[in-house]
Amino acid sequence: MKKFDYEAVIGHELICAKLKQAVCRHQFVNAYLFSGAEGIGKKTVAYPFIAALLCHAPVDGKPCLHCPSCMLMTAGNHPDFITLQTPEDNKTFGVDVVREQLIQEAYVRPFSSERKVFLIEKGELLTTAAQNALLKVLEEPPEYVVFIILTTAQNLLLDTVLSRCLKLQFLPLNQALCHRYFEQLTTGDAPRRELAASFAQGNIGRGKQMLTDEEFYNLYENTVTNMQYLLNSLSAFADFNQFLTDNREKIENIIDFMLVFLRDALRLNLTGKAKLICTDQQAAVKAFSQKLAPGNLVRLMEAVIHYRERLQKNASFAGAGLELLTKMQEETHDQSNRNPI
Ligand SMILES: [Zn+2]
Repeated sequence: MKKFDYEAVIGHELICAKLKQAVCRHQFVNAYLFSGAEGIGKKTVAYPFIAALLCHAPVDGKPCLHCPSCMLMTAGNHPDFITLQTPEDNKTFGVDVVREQLIQEAYVRPFSSERKVFLIEKGELLTTAAQNALLKVLEEPPEYVVFIILTTAQNLLLDTVLSRCLKLQFLPLNQALCHRYFEQLTTGDAPRRELAASFAQGNIGRGKQMLTDEEFYNLYENTVTNMQYLLNSLSAFADFNQFLTDNREKIENIIDFMLVFLRDALRLNLTGKAKLICTDQQAAVKAFSQKLAPGNLVRLMEAVIHYRERLQKNASFAGAGLELLTKMQEETHDQSNRNPI
């Protein structure tokens, strides 16, 4: 069940205070943009704000959780709250969807609340045509309408759309708060919770995925294991290539795991005893940090970043993988590269 209470929010105090104040003072804008990484807490903050906007008797800017409007929110069928859900193929929102689900609805007065709220969960998926259509409503919105646009990539929204929104930037939480949050959970065992807290890097959703999503965790473990084999045998490069191909759909996660792992190895190499993100993979991190020089590790990270950029620019998957593996082989097996920088 969705939570409509600010109690469910970890951190982001300033943003919550601002939103509660807007409700207290009845000072709204017609469009809000919540931007920040996936899992950072945008939706967790949006829900109580939406419930408060629609609530018949908000308390200190928070939803009362008892009135008919709050009951409808809890039941998941509030007629004045419309979500533009992520398309199943996770591709784009075309102009037709926006016209039908948002624009036409925006001109129909609310049924049971003073306002009507529209939530767009992945603003970055709006096509340019869809954004231009949305802009027409944003330019002259009915006074009762509030749009809340969530996005992980503000740069993909048109300046004209951005200029109509009140922008709220969701930043990573501080590490101590993140650790406290995961420590008090009862899910998983203690080592897994420790890994989740460090892997979160200030993003509770990211940590939770490591804690509860077995497929995600297995992919992480397999990435590290495959990386470790690279140090020992040249045949491991073909296996690594196969691993990338087999998990093509999750390549972004694999790239992320590789970078986190290499960053750990570099830190350990430079400082002697770094606090690792891969808390459960100390032996593998140590092997990399002992066998390779800082220069090798930096160039490996650069190669992985370059690999990601090439894939983002739609390079051939096989070609980009081959380039990455060639570079990785040079850095891990070419003796001339082993000298410290
Ligand atoms: Zn209420």
